[in-house]
Amino acid sequence: MADAKLPTAKLIDGKAFAAGLQQRVAAGVRELVATGAPKPGLATVLVGADPASQVYVRSKGKLAAELGMASFDHRLGPETAEAELLALIATLNADPAINGILVQLPLPKHIDTACVLLAIDPAKDVDGFHPINVGRLGSIAAGAPLDFPVPCTPLGVSMLLQDALGSMAGLNAIVIGRSTLVGRPVAQLLLRLDCTVTITHSRTRDLASLCRQADIVVAAIGKPAFVRGDWIKPGAAVIDVGINRIPTADGKTRLVGDAAFAEILPVAGHLTPVPGGVGPMTVACLMFNTLQAARCAAGLAVSAA
Ligand code: NAP
Repeated sequence: MADAKLPTAKLIDGKAFAAGLQQRVAAGVRELVATGAPKPGLATVLVGADPASQVYVRSKGKLAAELGMASFDHRLGPETAEAELLALIATLNADPAINGILVQLPLPKHIDTACVLLAIDPAKDVDGFHPINVGRLGSIAAGAPLDFPVPCTPLGVSMLLQDALGSMAGLNAIVIGRSTLVGRPVAQLLLRLDCTVTITHSRTRDLASLCRQADIVVAAIGKPAFVRGDWIKPGAAVIDVGINRIPTADGKTRLVGDAAFAEILPVAGHLTPVPGGVGPMTVACLMFNTLQAARCAAGLAVSAA
């Protein structure tokens, strides 16, 4: 009886939001093509035969085609020399049919990943990892348009929060994790939306009490159920980026996030589930970035993110 009266966080349905975003991208592709511009083109590049990477690359190419884009799949053997990969990237950079270049990471150890990412034309860097795009995000003014590619998972986090909360001006946001892939770009995107942002990491002191002051908590740590229910200010929005596979009693595994879902659910105002929260946004934002790059190449303004 008492349980029924407990306040419960509104679940943020990333799967539904991502599906809606994909529909908007498909409509954007149709609109672009109707202007006489070519279809947006996404080139995926996979070096080696890692099974998980093969699945990711295949699903990205398939989704691009479903949304009306042209998809170009490049597979290179595990022994491919760095020079050969760089030559392919130079060809893709010069090809006007290609608007986005995605090099699936991780690359084999004999290839210098930083050197490869640096070789991609920043305008076609739909993962947002090129140092020029990292620098643009790091120096972006409040509210300025995202007219350059932004890392996909952080962009998805910012879209979900904007949809759930509307204006975030003045809200205290804590980002747990400072990786270049997730934590830092999330923090920059929240600054752009006028949040007061605290970035934390493994050396942060008294993380729990910092968390208790936050209206928005973004957990990107890589440790199952790390963020506890009693760290959360009542009504706060909690975005769980973590994807952790843990063993279950029946010998199988299941996915859990970085936040203790059952503890946080009665306290938070909004909460993303794992799976079905941030995860589906990553590939949808890759498609969004590819369309944006194609719009820029056609001399059109980017759509609002
Ligand atoms: P990462 O590069 O390993 O970074 C983890 C961050 O967590 C680091 O900054 C680390 O601090 C911090 N950290 C570790 N222990 C901590 C502690 N005790 N207290 C506070 N901070 C601590 O991981 P990542 O690439 O950012 O990914 C984070 C999580 O998101 C992972 O579960 C990953 O699988 C998931 N992820 C999901 C998606 C998606 O599509 N949904 C995409 C990417 C990543 P230091 O810097 O001090 O080491």
